[in-house]
This record gives sequence, C-alpha cells and structure tokens, in this order.
Amino acid sequence: RDLVDPEQDPDERAAESALRPTSLADFDGQPRVRDQLGLVLEAARHRDHVPDHVLLSGPPGLGKTTLAMIIAAEMNAPLRVSSGPAIQHAGDLAAILSGLVEGEVFFLDEIHRMSRPAEEMLYLAMEDFRVDVVVGKGPGATAIPLEIPRFTLVGATTRAGLLPGPLRDRFGFTAQLDFYDTDALERIVARSAALIGAEAEPEGLAEIARRSRGTPRIANRLLRRVRDYAQVRADGVLTAAVARSALDLYEVDEIGLDRLDRGVLEAICRRFGGGPVGLSTLAISVGEETETVEEVAEPFLVREGFLMRTPRGRVATPLAWQHLGLTPPAGAPG
Ligand code: ADP
Repeated sequence: RDLVDPEQDPDERAAESALRPTSLADFDGQPRVRDQLGLVLEAARHRDHVPDHVLLSGPPGLGKTTLAMIIAAEMNAPLRVSSGPAIQHAGDLAAILSGLVEGEVFFLDEIHRMSRPAEEMLYLAMEDFRVDVVVGKGPGATAIPLEIPRFTLVGATTRAGLLPGPLRDRFGFTAQLDFYDTDALERIVARSAALIGAEAEPEGLAEIARRSRGTPRIANRLLRRVRDYAQVRADGVLTAAVARSALDLYEVDEIGLDRLDRGVLEAICRRFGGGPVGLSTLAISVGEETETVEEVAEPFLVREGFLMRTPRGRVATPLAWQHLGLTPPAGAPG
C-alpha cells in the first residue's frame, strides 16, 4: 500500500510537498476547476474581499490540499491546516477559529469526519463570522457570542455526498475534482522529473503517467520508485523499459491497478462468484478498512468500468473478469 496510501511516511510527505505546484498557473489538469476558482479569487481581489468558502471533493491524491495552499498563496494570505478527525470537541474548533487572522485561509481536510457539535459551530462561523462560546454547565450555562475575523474555509472531502446539506449549502464555491487524463499526468511527471533531477525519456514518463490511476500523487510516487530502480538496476536513465520493469516489480499492472485494486476484483470474482457482495464483507476479505476500499480503491475501479456499486452490493463487470484472465461462470452478473 505504500505506493498509494497517502500521508504516513514523513519522507514521502516531504518528497510530496517538494513537488506541489504553488500557483494556479502551475496547477495542471482540472481546467474547469482552475478557471472557475481563478475567477472566484480574482473577483475577491477586485472587491478587496475575503473569497467565499470553497468545498473541494474527490478521491485522495487529486490535489485538494494543493489547491488550498494555492488559494492562500494567490490571496497572499496565511494558511491554517486542520482536519475533521483532529477536531473532537467544539472547543477545539473555537480555539482555532478565534486564533485566525483577517483573511486567513482555513483548510479543513476530511471535513465530513468532524463531530456534530463542531459542525454546528462551523455553520455559524461560516455564515456570520461568529462563534458562541458556552460558559458554565447545566441550567446556568450561557453562550457568549464572540466575533471572529473573516476567513475563507477550504473544506476537503472524498465525497461531497457525505456532508450534511446545511454544511454543503454554506460553501459559495464547490468543485468536484476528477481523475486526470494521461496527457495532464504526463506533463505533471515531466515537471516532477525535472524538479528532482531525474534523467528521463518521454516514453518512460508516458509509461508512468499511464499507470498512475489518474492520480498526481501516485504519478509522483511511481516516478520516485522508477528513478530508484533506474539508478540501482540500470544506468540511471528512466526509459520505457526501465519504467515497465520497475512498475512490474512494484506490482502496478499495465493499466495502473495495484495490489489492492486487483485484490478487490479477485475477491469479488473468485470468492463471491462476481457479486453482489456487501462492502464490509469485501473489505474483510481483502484485509482492509471499509473506508480504504470505498474511498481509495473503488472510485477508480468504478470509473474504469471494472466494478459496479449496486443496492445489493459490489459487482464485478465482464471487463474485470477479462482483466484478471478469468472466465465468468454462466449466469454471472454484469
Ligand atoms: P489531496 O489533498 O487531494 O489528497 P494533494 O493536494 O495532497 O491531494 O496532492 C498530492 C500530490 O499530487 C501533491 O504533492 C502534488 O505534488 C501533486 N499534485 C496534485 N495535483 C496536482 C496538479 N494539478 N499538478 C501537479 N501536481 C499535482
């Protein structure tokens, strides 16, 4: 999972930040999001206003954190970063909000995993730039309204559908990030290769881009692994042949599916006759958390036509059977 799983390793995190684009102009792909967001920011600058709150949704590694940093940079504003799971109590949120400075960008990752009371505090803060601080307990408790500086909330979530309506409605701009096409990924890995000083042939970079599951984070990770391979097992140049051998070694197949992706499809086909199988049963059989299967593996498998989510469970498509080199039993779904 080390190729795909975000965060965890501090070295990987550092390598990742070094490759982050820092302006909208440097942010490749997602042309519509880029144009729309560019306009939102420009209008705010014109009016000398704090930009509207922004909600970014989409699978991990597509650039949500990067965009939050870009928004702050483009507005010349400081950035404060936190995440839903880190905010256990409304008080944690009150402390952050009251410590913001005017115009600050507050990036709240995994916003769908915030506690309920914190969420309610956030409504008021987003709308009226105010928090109610509760003093005392029981019948004597009083809420003291506290003004907070105007700020821009940038919320990120893997799926906008997980957010309660009232929260979603308080964002002035919502962007759904989609998987990147191969052309954009090729430019992204080419830029990254130049930044890390890797000597690469265009075909080698194209091979990496093709096998990156439409995800810049994975493209950058694969680039670093292929470069390791080129340095240790070849003459240092990242050619198509080197990329292919390295990616085979890391169990990334020719269309970019990794071990978890294939594990999910194999479990559905081999153990559950092609499905339908429930998400939690499926997660147990591949030894992963349900969220990992649902938010990391499935979006790409669905989008590439290998898997369907039905009301009765997950179903493998004929394409999945074919990709695994298996023959569906007569009467298999799909
Ligand atoms: P998310 O927050 O959606 O999980 P990140 O913003 O952390 O994703 O992006 C992961 C990595 O992918 C970053 O380190 C960045 O270098 C790279 N990346 C993401 N989007 C782009 C892009 N549009 N252009 C270039 N690199 C990108």
